[in-house]
Parts: sequence; structure tokens; C-alpha cells
Amino acid sequence: MTQTQTVAFSKNSTNLFFHILTTCNLKCRHCYINPAQHGKNSLPLPTIKAWLEAFANNSNAKNLIFLGGEPTLHPELAAAAKHARRLGFGSITIDTNGYLFGDILSKVTPADVDYFSFSLDGATRETNDRIRGDGSYDTCLEGIRRAIDRGFTTSLIYTVSSRNIHELEVMAPLLDSLGVDRFFIQVIGLRGKSAMAPDASESRKSPQVAKSQWLATVPGVARMIAERGISVTYPKVFLSSAEKFECAGTVADNYFVFPNGRVYRCPLCEDFPVHSLCFQENQLVPTAKLNEQDFFQLDIPEGCVMNKMIQPHNISYNEEGLPEYKIACCLLKEEVRGG
Ligand code: SF4
Ligand code: SF4
Repeated sequence: MTQTQTVAFSKNSTNLFFHILTTCNLKCRHCYINPAQHGKNSLPLPTIKAWLEAFANNSNAKNLIFLGGEPTLHPELAAAAKHARRLGFGSITIDTNGYLFGDILSKVTPADVDYFSFSLDGATRETNDRIRGDGSYDTCLEGIRRAIDRGFTTSLIYTVSSRNIHELEVMAPLLDSLGVDRFFIQVIGLRGKSAMAPDASESRKSPQVAKSQWLATVPGVARMIAERGISVTYPKVFLSSAEKFECAGTVADNYFVFPNGRVYRCPLCEDFPVHSLCFQENQLVPTAKLNEQDFFQLDIPEGCVMNKMIQPHNISYNEEGLPEYKIACCLLKEEVRGG
């Protein structure tokens, strides 16, 4: 028996997605980092500390996710994580492609870092490495095993696209054999590299997955994996007419921080200079209008305004020209737990 629950948005907990650099050793085909928008710099430790402190006095429960690029390429990642712990961040995660640079596993302990989250985009070497690059499958699996051996709690993130949805089901035995605690299914967003025109080596086929294929695959696989005792989270994406649309930009407290000082409240806005906040002299200040906040207020029959603007191919319309369903906020998740 499994239980599926929509994770309600809340303003009582703050989620800080902190990109401390944008450099990466990999060149994934769907990489969402856009150096023209997000900069190419790596934040020095004093700046990381100052920006963490800008959120630390917030009375909410605080969850921190260190991101890149590849955050383990940052030589001061361990010191940054320990500082965040001292500041009272309740949950600290390091998202990694599995290369675990800088011997990070021996520089932090499970008391410093709650989760190592590994990205893998195929159940087989062939599929994953076609998306993420040669050698990335074996290195990621090896990284997961090493993290578990050291006593860390681990998650695996699988970004579903038309290139790998056929292998989602095969993840169940792999997750089981690895001993991963949590499985996050993501949906590909058309931002960063995925939003760019394909080069000669790329298929012209959209990486987006049709509604019918998503619904026929993802919820069922999530239940099957949860039955094995692994907690599974996946984005809701499609809302039935009975379900209420909410924009996390207005009803939740999320911050997506980039090393050039931009701070977004919505990840779908990240390819555009519409961030609603920025760091100036280590102070978090609002930006001038128009910015993303102006989009969050718009009430359209398609649901998410940014989805309609940047990736509308997942919407379909009836004969009267009305959308047949709404697209949920990309941050709205379903959580499935084993009974
Ligand atoms: S590991 Fe992450 S940051 Fe690096 S190329 Fe892949 S998606 Fe981009
Ligand atoms: S993804 Fe859409 S609904 Fe969610 S915060 Fe962004 S604009 Fe709002």
C-alpha cells in the first residue's frame, strides 16, 4: 500500500536554492544553467556566508540546497555547509552529479549535511551517458555507494524527458540495489540548453513529454518504487478541473540565488533578467518593476503564466479555444510513501 499526497505550498518554511558557482565538469544536454544570465563566477566564502546570513534571521524553518554548476568543485563547500548549520538551517542538501570533487565526503559528516542528492538521467549507462556524458553513469553510481558507506542519507534525481522516460520503470531495481533513501522525479523544463536551438548533433524532437505519456508512466512508477520503501516525489504538472491552481511565487517562500547576485522566486524565470530580488553589497534588495512578481499575479485559464510563455507545447485546447486542463506550478509536488 502506498499513500500519495500533494505537498501544499507554505510560507512557513523557506527553501533556499543556492548556486554557489556555475562551473561544471559535465555538459548535460538539458543543463539549465545559462552563463549569460547566471554569470560565470564562483562566490568567495565570505560572500557565501554573508548571503546565508541574509536568510538566517528569518523565523521560518529553513531548508538549504547547495547547487552549481557542480557545487563540489567549490573548494570551500564544506566550510559553507558547516556555517549554514551553525546559522540554524534545518535541512542542508548538496546536489551533485556524483563526481564529489575536493574529497567532500571526508570533509563533512552526516551531522553537517542531511542529504547528498545525485543526478542520474537513465537506468542504463547508455541512456544516462547519452544525456549527461561518457563516464557519468559509473561515476554517479560509485559516488552514491561511497556516500552511503560514509553514513550519508542519499537521494537520486531523475529528470524525465522524451529521451529517458522509457527507462523510468527500470530505476526501481537500481534504486533498491543502491540503497537510496529518496527518489525525486523531475520534469524537463525548456530553459538553459533545452531552450536553445538544437545543434547539428541534436534530435529536433522536443524533449518535453506529452500529458498522456506522463500520466501513463510517472504516477505508476512512483507507486511501484514507494512500495519498496523509498520515498518518491514527482511534479504534478497537470491539474484536473477540480484542482486549484496556485503560484508558488505568491503562496510559498522559495529563493533561487545565483552567483552574479540575482535572486529569483520562480525557476521558470531564470533565463530572463526578471528576478525580483538581488544582492547588493551583501544586502538582499528588491529590483525595479517590471519583474517576475508581476507575472505571478496574472490569472489565466492555462494556469502557470511562465509555462504558457516559455513552454506552451504541454497545453492543449478544445474546439472553443479553451485549455483542456491547467498546468500546475512547476514547484507543486506529489509525494508517495510506502505503507
Ligand atoms: S551536472 Fe548539472 S550543472 Fe553540470 S552540466 Fe549537468 S545539469 Fe548542468
Ligand atoms: S512556475 Fe509558474 S506558477 Fe510556479 S512560481 Fe513560476 S510563474 Fe508561478
